[in-house]
Amino acid sequence: GLETRDVSAWFGSHKVLERVSLGMAAGEVTALIGPSGCGKSTYLRILNRMHEMVRGAALAGEVLLDGDDVYRPGRRPAEVRRRIGMVFQRPNPFPAMSIQDNVASGLKLAGIKVGKEEREHLVESSLRRAGLWDEVATRLHTPGGSLSGGQQQRLCIARSLAVSPDILLMDEPCSALDPTSTRRVEETIAELRGRLTIVIVTHNMQQAQRVSQSCAFFLATHDTPGRIVEAGPTEQLFGSPRDQRTADYVNGRF
Ligand code: ATP
Ligand code: MG
Repeated sequence: GLETRDVSAWFGSHKVLERVSLGMAAGEVTALIGPSGCGKSTYLRILNRMHEMVRGAALAGEVLLDGDDVYRPGRRPAEVRRRIGMVFQRPNPFPAMSIQDNVASGLKLAGIKVGKEEREHLVESSLRRAGLWDEVATRLHTPGGSLSGGQQQRLCIARSLAVSPDILLMDEPCSALDPTSTRRVEETIAELRGRLTIVIVTHNMQQAQRVSQSCAFFLATHDTPGRIVEAGPTEQLFGSPRDQRTADYVNGRF
C-alpha cells in the first residue's frame, strides 16, 4: 500500500498542503474529496514524484510505497512513476498513434524492452483489464484519437496498466465523460480493485460512494493550507461523519 506522513507542500512561498497523513490500503480504492483548490491534485502529484517537475514546488514529509520512501535519496523518479501510474481528467492518448502503440508507449516511456509477441500479449491483456478490448480488437491499428472520449480514457488506463504498476492514481478521470462512459470507467475501477491500489480524486459524491472503500476529505480556507479534515471508511464518512464540515460537504451544503 501507500502511506504519507506529515506531507506539506508549497508553490514558492504559498503553502498548499499541511501535514497530510493518510494510509491507502493495498488493493483498495481510496477516494479523495474536497472543494476546488484544496490540494487534491497536488497531493496526487506528490505521490508519484510529479510534483517536483513543477517549477517552484517544494515538499516536506514522507511518502511510503510498501514501507519504502519514494523520496529516498538516490531513488529514481522514473522508477517511482512506473510503479505509481497516473490517469488525468482529460484523456491524453497520442491522437495520431495507433491504439496498440498507445498502449505500448507506456512500456517505452518506462524503458521496458519486450519482444514482439510479449508486446502483443501485453497490449491485449492491458486493454482487457481496462475493459476496452472487445470494442477495439478489430481496429488496433486505427488512431487513438478516433476513439470516443470514454474509450480514450480507458485507453489511457490500459497504457498505465501495461507497465504493471502497483498503484493507479486517477485525477477526476470521469469529469470530461458522459454518464455512460463514466459507468464504463467505474466498472473498470471495480474490476481492477484488489489487484491494484487505486487513489481517485472526484467531485462526484455518488461516484465516491460507488467506487471507494476509503475516503479522505480535504479542506483549505483562505488562510489555511489544505489538510485532511476526516478520513476513514467511505460508509462512515458519508453515513456518520464525525466532523460537521464533512457532513456539510458530502451533503452538498458547501
Ligand atoms: P480542483 O478540485 O479544482 O482540481 P485541487 O484540490 O486539485 O482543485 P490543486 O490543483 O492541488 O487543487 O491546487 C491547490 C492549490 O495550489 C491551489 O491554491 C492552486 O492555485 C495552487 N497551485 C496548484 N498548482 C500550482 C502551480 N503550478 N503553481 C502555483 N500554484 C499552484
Ligand atoms: Mg485538481
